Amino acid sequence: MEKITPNRIDEIISAEIPDIEIDKDLHHIVSKNMTHGPCGSLNNNSLCVSDGKCTKRYPRDLLTETITVNDGYPLYRRRSTGNPLL
Ligand SMILES: [Zn+2]
Repeated sequence: MEKITPNRIDEIISAEIPDIEIDKDLHHIVSKNMTHGPCGSLNNNSLCVSDGKCTKRYPRDLLTETITVNDGYPLYRRRSTGNPLL
């Protein structure tokens, strides 16, 4: 089977909060409804926390580019909102 490329993934999926200057409504929708947490040390009562750690592996590291890995779960691009190059 042909493996999906990082560029193709980025065309379909984003794990980033949309820029408020580009799309204010989408920024607010994603910020309110599609943001994980707080959990872990910030909120141990969250349903995703087991043994003091988030079972969904949040918070995730910032990444400049999407990376495909062999387990089938890509590491999505997550650039810093303060620095678009990161
Ligand atoms: Zn969590």
